[in-house]
Amino acid sequence: MKYCTQCLQPDTRPNTVFTAHGLCPACDYFGRLQSVDWQERYEILQDLLQEFPRKPGQHFDCIIGVSGGKDSTRQALWVRDKLGLKPLLACLSYPPEQVTERGVDNISNLIELGFDVVLSAPAPATWRKLMRESFLKFTNWARSTELALFSSVPQLAMRYKIPLILWGENPGLQLGDLKTLGRTGYDGNNLRYMNTLSGGALSWMLEAGIQQKDLIPYQYPSPAAFDANGLQIVYLGWFLGDWSLVNNGMYATAQGLRIREDSVENTGDLLGVTSLDEDWVTLNQMIKYYKFGFGRVTDYVNEEIRLGRITRDKGIELVSAHDDACAPYYIASFCEYIGLSVDDFWSHVRLSVNRDLFTVNPDGRITRKYKVGIGL
Ligand SMILES: [Zn+2]
Repeated sequence: MKYCTQCLQPDTRPNTVFTAHGLCPACDYFGRLQSVDWQERYEILQDLLQEFPRKPGQHFDCIIGVSGGKDSTRQALWVRDKLGLKPLLACLSYPPEQVTERGVDNISNLIELGFDVVLSAPAPATWRKLMRESFLKFTNWARSTELALFSSVPQLAMRYKIPLILWGENPGLQLGDLKTLGRTGYDGNNLRYMNTLSGGALSWMLEAGIQQKDLIPYQYPSPAAFDANGLQIVYLGWFLGDWSLVNNGMYATAQGLRIREDSVENTGDLLGVTSLDEDWVTLNQMIKYYKFGFGRVTDYVNEEIRLGRITRDKGIELVSAHDDACAPYYIASFCEYIGLSVDDFWSHVRLSVNRDLFTVNPDGRITRKYKVGIGL
């Protein structure tokens, strides 16, 4: 395990390759951003938008997938107020056991800001069954739900005949998932190759006894369907010079976004602005940490280090203290929902711990072998 020489990204992130100088893809990208002509990019976006004029009978210029969180709030307002477009916001709604009150408030906030929002709610019994299966099989409950989340937007784009899909972050450039890179920095049609969406997406669901007819919300439209409907995903993050977790959070909070109140000790959410619509992501981030050696705090501090707002040493301190943060009540409510005991939850987590990076002690505690910022 090696760390990026600039931030605290280890090379254990799936699909990632560091530069010859030891920089992670996100730092490398950030370095190159410093010489970008943002006005030129804005003009490229204007030209691009010309290729997607609203056709007769079409009510919207574009569709944006939203969760109601910081990124979606920022995107929606920018697209409407700066670009002058009329977007349809598409939101995948979680079952009542999962969604947070603040998540519901944040969607209400978007509606109150004047947007048209279409909600899609996959059948709750299948949702729960898949989440349980996903956890037991991959120790990652979000495999199925992320598929639904990503699939809902192109599915709704086809249904509403809106070819232009605006997406926020480019996971290739901004996170380092290199398989998703398209022809250009803004082409998002390779999003289908991202780690979450690849790898025999539906087969494990069928094997788990779920019928094909119940899996429609989890099917990402094929390249042929994209072509037939002229769908184009465009990453807006590529056009926004100050796109970052913290900036989007501050911007959206000023526009009425409700943030997480629980502490960083309980959530690893340093500023309380990520994944606001539900809380079980906290335990998934903890599991990600045990699998790959980086969690939610790492994602935060990496951006902050790049932006020069904290030092790498301060980042090491924060990551060392809180990267595995997850309060027991999040685990308890998740276990209750999928019908698993907390002991069984931990047995599964321990089985998927990366033994090169961590020691599982006889008393069950999981301790780091590597040093944050240095590696192994
Ligand atoms: Zn880096």
